[in-house]
Amino acid sequence: MITVLYTFLILGGLGLVLGIALAISSVVFYVKEDTRVEDVKNMLPNYNCGACGYAGCAGFSEAIIKGEVCDLERCKPGKAETNYKLIRDYLEKHPNEDGTIIKVTFKE
Ligand code: SF4
Repeated sequence: MITVLYTFLILGGLGLVLGIALAISSVVFYVKEDTRVEDVKNMLPNYNCGACGYAGCAGFSEAIIKGEVCDLERCKPGKAETNYKLIRDYLEKHPNEDGTIIKVTFKE
């Protein structure tokens, strides 16, 4: 009987310690996700063809948000009316935390 009690105490204590460690880790290693990456990705054609030089639309979207790419026409299947203008308008309405607006270019 005492063995069963020790087993529950040890496993319960271990569960408590690991639970606390996970809770602390989730706070310490929290990575704030920029929701604009997903939003811009959804405005791209989402063919994941790689013509833009990135592995897929998510990579291109992330590069736009990071300011690494400003030429939207690198997305060859994209169209000015259905993709580029939407992205430009969206980025104008969703500036960076410091208030700067991500500039993008394309031929209209
Ligand atoms: S070229 Fe356009 S559709 Fe193709 S992967 Fe890049 S962003 Fe996506």
